[in-house]
Formats: sequence, C-alpha cells, structure tokens
Amino acid sequence: MSETEKAIREIRINPIVPSESVLIATARSMRPRKEEAPAPRDTRQHVETCPFCRGNEDKTPPELRRYEVAGEWAVRIVENLYPVLGDDRDKSGLVFGLQQAIDGYGRHEVIVDHYTHGIAVHEMAEEHLTTLFQAYQSRAAELYALDERLKYILIFKNFGPAAGASMAHTHSQLIALPVVPQNLQEELEHSRDHYKKHHHCIFCTLIDEALTFETTIYDRDSGKIVRRINVGQYVVERGERFIAIKPFASRYEWEIHILPLEHNSDFLETSAEDMADLARVLKRTMARLDAVIGGAQYNYFLHSRPSSDDYSDCRGSYHWHLEICPRTSVPSGFELGSGLFVNTISPEEAAEQLRTVELD
Ligand code: AMP
Ligand code: ZN
Ligand code: ZN
Repeated sequence: MSETEKAIREIRINPIVPSESVLIATARSMRPRKEEAPAPRDTRQHVETCPFCRGNEDKTPPELRRYEVAGEWAVRIVENLYPVLGDDRDKSGLVFGLQQAIDGYGRHEVIVDHYTHGIAVHEMAEEHLTTLFQAYQSRAAELYALDERLKYILIFKNFGPAAGASMAHTHSQLIALPVVPQNLQEELEHSRDHYKKHHHCIFCTLIDEALTFETTIYDRDSGKIVRRINVGQYVVERGERFIAIKPFASRYEWEIHILPLEHNSDFLETSAEDMADLARVLKRTMARLDAVIGGAQYNYFLHSRPSSDDYSDCRGSYHWHLEICPRTSVPSGFELGSGLFVNTISPEEAAEQLRTVELD
C-alpha cells in the first residue's frame, strides 16, 4: 500500500455471486497472514523421470488426443492415472435420511500443456497458447457430444505447490462432472435474474463500466470529496477481443479475470481468431503478474455456459470467462468459518501495479 493511499476496511459484495463476497482489509496492523517468499519455480527443460516430458509417453495411461506442431506433439491429453471421477466404482450405500449422494460418475483427464517441463505460461509462444486453448475447446466439445450424463466440463490449471499442484511439469486438467457445480450454478442464476430485470448481461455491464465509468464519492456530512473512483483503473490488459480485469471484489490479492469483449456465453463458440487474441491477452497478463509478484503460483479455471438445453436461456445473460487466482496466502479459519475471503491488498492498488509495470 502506498503512503498516500488510505487503508480500506470494507466488505465488498461480489455483484455476480453474492456468497463470494470479500473483506478488503489493507491496514498493515490488520494483516492476518504472514507473507512468505514463494519456493523457486522448477525451470528445468527436461526431466528424465517426469511422465509428462517428451520421450516418456509410455509413463502415462494411453493418450486420448495429441496436437502436433512440425510433426512432434505440442500438447497431449491423457487419462489421469489417479482419477477423482470415473465410471467403475460402487457408491458407499450409506445414503439415508438427509445424507444424500450423487454417483461419482465422470471423467478426469490431464492436459500436458507443453513439452517443456518447467515453462511458465508467459514464456509460451502465443501460437502455442492458441493451440492449448483450442485443445481445451475441442476436447470439451467432444466429451459433451459423447455423453449426455456429463453436465459440466471444468477445465483448470494448478501451477505451483501453493496452488495444489503435485506435478511440476506444466499441465492443465479436465474434469467432466455429473452435475453443474454450485458456484457456477449461482453465477448462471444471478446473471439470469439480472438479465430479466435489466435486459442486459451483467458481465457486459461490468466491462462497460471498467472501460468508461468514472465516479466520485462525497462525504455525507461535509460534502467533501472522499474518493474519486476511476473504474477504468480495473483494466489490467486489453486486446482487440479480450480484456483482463481486476475484480472490484477480488478474493485473491492478485486475482484477474479475462473475458471476451463481445458478448458470448459459451467458450465452445469461440472462433480461431478469438483464440489468438485470448492467447495474447493471457500471455501479457501472466507476464504482468510475473513482473509484479515473481514466480506466481496460481489456479486458473474456465467458467462457461453448460452445453445442456437446460441452460439455453442463459445465452444472453451469461458471459464465459477465465478466472486466474494467484495463491499468495492460505485461507484461515475466519475464511472457512465465515465464507468471506480476506484480501489484504486493495484491488485498485494491485490493478495499478499490474497495469503500469513495464513488460520487456
Ligand atoms: P496436480 O496434482 O494438480 O499437479 O495434477 C497432476 C495430476 O496428474 C494429478 O491429478 C495426478 O493424478 C495425475 N498424474 C500423476 N502422475 C500421472 C501419470 N503418470 N499419468 C497421468 N496422470 C498422472
Ligand atoms: Zn516434465
Ligand atoms: Zn455479456
């Protein structure tokens, strides 16, 4: 926090999912967690024993898809050796009274993002990132078409031990679920309610505000200007077709969301030209993150309209996006107990740092 900036202590309501609201508490004395330097990243190019490195293709279960560049694989999709969902396990049989369960049916696949073991996203070529996102897209489309019991296909990435990654080789994962996850369900429902009331997509409104809106907050008693909010300050990176925004109610100190500028509810409907711009915006956004916090350990995940007809009425109201959540602290009992995330860096300050940092 800069010397001139006032400490903030306020609960910010997430406009899309009110249950994911955030306590922004930037005063140093309030800082509830100690900041530790992240463990150094594994930057090795090739590791003899790594099942995801080139040449070790026989150390994974059979390959499901491969995406080649110049005759060699650039991205591979394989079955997960230890799947969390599948189709070959019995239920516990302990369902009774209020204790209900749903079949753990589904799929769990690993996407080897790149043949280089320790490469970070901001170091990957834009063309490679385009291929990666096309791999996400084509595999998800394939699975939705294959099996209507799969209700949501969640694509995510864990990078670094602080983000829960057990494998150092850069990878993403795809988990096809027999239900639409509750948080996505809430996003879908709240944005649909907003659309019914205002005839406008709430995500599009947030983007418009981020690009144009400026407002001033006055003190109720004296009438003096307390704060001037330039909402444009939430923009971290802007491409021709995508925008990276720091959410007003950021749960994580360095959280960033990437959204298509033109309304689109479904990642699967993203065109090849769009993918190229997404790759550029993602690469630059990750480079900014790396320049500001160095060696970010993070999760990212895609939220998109589920493919079933049950959600076709969300076409106008939902807006697909990628949420990037750098993990700089571990949630505490307060967070678990209250459901409120605590963020100790003002999102405005974080956005400013991310936006203004010089890229090579
Ligand atoms: P993470 O724990 O996020 O790093 O994800 C790595 C995933 O790779 C885990 O879900 C593991 O089950 C999976 N995994 C580990 N070893 C292999 C392997 N040899 N082949 C395929 N998947 C693997
Ligand atoms: Zn490797
Ligand atoms: Zn929209």
